[in-house]
Amino acid sequence: MGGPAAPDTSWKGTLNVSYNIGPGFADNSSTRKVRMHVHTNNKITRIYNVIGILRGAVEPDRYIILGGHRDSWVFGGIDPTTGAAVLQEVVRSFGKMKMEGWRPKRTIIFASWDAEEFGLLGSTEWAEENARVLQERAVAYINTDSSIEGNYTLRVDCTPLLYKLVYNLTKEILSPDEGYENKSLYESWLEKDPATENNSYPRINKLGSGSDFEAYFQRLGIASGRVRYTKNRKADKFSNYPVYHTVYETFELVEKFYDPTFKKQLTIAQLRGKLVYELADSQVIPFDCRDYGEALKGYSNRIYKLAKKHEEQLKTYKISFDPLFSAVVDFSKAAAEFHKRLEQVDKKDPVAVRIMNDQLMFIERAFTDPLGLPGRKFYRHVIFAPSSHNKYAGESFPGIYDAMFDIENKADQREAWEEVKRQISIAAFTVQAAAGTLKEVA
Ligand SMILES: [Zn+2]
Repeated sequence: MGGPAAPDTSWKGTLNVSYNIGPGFADNSSTRKVRMHVHTNNKITRIYNVIGILRGAVEPDRYIILGGHRDSWVFGGIDPTTGAAVLQEVVRSFGKMKMEGWRPKRTIIFASWDAEEFGLLGSTEWAEENARVLQERAVAYINTDSSIEGNYTLRVDCTPLLYKLVYNLTKEILSPDEGYENKSLYESWLEKDPATENNSYPRINKLGSGSDFEAYFQRLGIASGRVRYTKNRKADKFSNYPVYHTVYETFELVEKFYDPTFKKQLTIAQLRGKLVYELADSQVIPFDCRDYGEALKGYSNRIYKLAKKHEEQLKTYKISFDPLFSAVVDFSKAAAEFHKRLEQVDKKDPVAVRIMNDQLMFIERAFTDPLGLPGRKFYRHVIFAPSSHNKYAGESFPGIYDAMFDIENKADQREAWEEVKRQISIAAFTVQAAAGTLKEVA
């Protein structure tokens, strides 16, 4: 920058405060009051979802959805255009294959949502309008919001059912990262962001919310996933990129700084496209239910560890996690047995294959509770919900977690721990019921 120089302070105003660029105040004890005048327009306006359907040749009544939003706060250089462009490119390439005579086995629905930034409006309206049909027929939902939020490595948030497919597909895609020429996306991802629990696999996160998959995953229980390029989580503790949702999110920002070769966006297009392709065209739906069992084991251990901080109360109010643990063991057992039968299924018997595919499709649905979570009736997934404290992040066993949150400060301790008990019962029942759907059909 031309050596030592006086810092540019022209951006500082004339208020009697110590200006700094954050995050937070330089003086944490500041109790200053601010009066803000906010001017917004309150009006009713029309929004448009654009839906494209590629009818399946073998199972037209089974749907794979690729959806992402098109509206933006300002110019939308990153959010959503880097994702909306991917949607268009995937549509274009599938269209090209169709022109050559190809059709997927299952139906693919391409959706360009409107009004995401106003509260996931377009995607939620469409999910509500088609809820009955989607509950019966939707196999998976892949989100295609921003394909970059950084340029360091891959980031994946998805249902455990998709772990294996994501791992397998990233091994088939070349890494766009510098220094990883001729290596796979999987290799650079594993090296840069190994999972905390088991560093022989790359990290995959729980789904939270903050984008259009919410109504499909959290409300309808459709297996969902999202992938994008992200920053180095170890070097950068901030939750999003600095100019997120601002006027500075321009095409120039992407072209000059984030992805000058557009290689990262190409990689994400390849991965999103491959996910849709495999889900729509594999004879057997490429879900692995054994990974759900493993994930449930991890989540139940984690929630128990949190509960153990209140050992005294667990005794006093007779709180036991045993029903949950035993349900998780039953689920894992059912999943292992299901998988064995799946490997032996007669691929020439379309009915036998369809029976197992339907069981695979309905696993995610089996984890939903029609009554919803306490105070959040539209979040019906019992295993995952957006965190009550950060909507972008995901929480596992949210019912139990929320019941225990800040429990020591609740006035009626007996009632508070009764609620924990109730939530453990709901979780145990739901996991047990899900295990039931995997059993061999009588
Ligand atoms: Zn977005």
